[in-house]
Amino acid sequence: MTYDYLIVGAGLFGCVCAHELHSAGKTCKVIDRRSHIAGNIYTEKQNGIQVHRYGAHIFHTSDREVWEYVNEYAEFNNYINSPIARYHNELYNLPFNMNTFSKMWGVVTPDEAKAVIAKQVQEAGITNPQNLEEQALSLAGRDIYEKLIKEYTQKQWGRPCTELPAFIIKRLPFRFVYDNNYFNDRYQGIPVGGYTQIAEKLLADVPVELNKDFLTSASEIQIENQSYYEMDGDLFRNVIYTGMIDAFFHYQYGPLEYRSLKFETEVLPDCDNYQGNAVVNYTSADVPFTRIIEHKHFEFGKDSETREPIHGTIITREYPASWQKGMEPYYPVNDEKNAALYAKYKALAEEKKNVIFGGRLGMYRYFDMDKVIRAALDTVNTMI
Ligand code: UDP
Repeated sequence: MTYDYLIVGAGLFGCVCAHELHSAGKTCKVIDRRSHIAGNIYTEKQNGIQVHRYGAHIFHTSDREVWEYVNEYAEFNNYINSPIARYHNELYNLPFNMNTFSKMWGVVTPDEAKAVIAKQVQEAGITNPQNLEEQALSLAGRDIYEKLIKEYTQKQWGRPCTELPAFIIKRLPFRFVYDNNYFNDRYQGIPVGGYTQIAEKLLADVPVELNKDFLTSASEIQIENQSYYEMDGDLFRNVIYTGMIDAFFHYQYGPLEYRSLKFETEVLPDCDNYQGNAVVNYTSADVPFTRIIEHKHFEFGKDSETREPIHGTIITREYPASWQKGMEPYYPVNDEKNAALYAKYKALAEEKKNVIFGGRLGMYRYFDMDKVIRAALDTVNTMI
């Protein structure tokens, strides 16, 4: 059979492309290296709890069209992410807001908080921040930087804050109101019953093959001056590739850097509430993990189908790790060196007229879920 598209990767980008292209009358096939669909948004029910197998995923967006789009495939609850940061035995609210400042310095009003920060920022003496440390010091002052940012960020990225780009920290809101909502977006929530259903519904009418690796299974061939990809006797006019862009080109300019994660999940049948919150960040260097997720709190401790309270709990400790071949790549390392290397791969990608590179790994970008959906919808729109 000849298909219009081979979609490599059944993550969010691939699923949205497959669904939209199929709806537009194109023939598609989706493959994935893993034994399940949904990529890193994959959730799986265990003991009544939707477990986020590849780390916490909290949907948030200000893009109304994207919000309406995901709501077609799942009902979202009213979960608001408000993580706690733990520095030794001190607990603080995140993101940085009046609750954090009040706990840290005993201040009460925004003016008092601003005065403390202004003094610390002045002492730091940074006018034009060049890296994450300087950015954090000039935004939040020394106390916040030392207790809540420095060691956490070093653990997460495996390098000092002085060697990281400032933009990473700009993801975090900083506000002078008593508001613990981690995100500034208009819409937020967790799909009742988990994320996997979204991928299942998007792929409902599209053939999917799991445990299938594109790089070892498909090859490019020419037929009457026309380029195709061939896989198991089928032909594909185009490929949408959401794997690692450097792997696609056989690492010919050298590997891009990624950060990986190791998840250690523990079932606690005799504990109903381990930490009182879905997300607790461990911001000190003496603890080897960055955070503990207690999955049941994403759905308020209730079974998504029966709505009955769940007994027992499941927690996941998240350990950052440097990425090596064979491990799952999670975060692109968007520093100057890797940006330059990515630019070289991107130039190669642009020459490949029948391959579209998408998603976090295909575009080597630190993407939130809503941005992935937006990028996939825009990509499909340019194609049809
Ligand atoms: N960050 C921090 N302390 C925290 C949480 C986050 O310093 O308690 C910094 C850290 O540098 C991290 C960045 O903020 O890489 C972005 O955090 P976010 O929670 O958005 O990262 P993600 O959930 O995508 O891993």
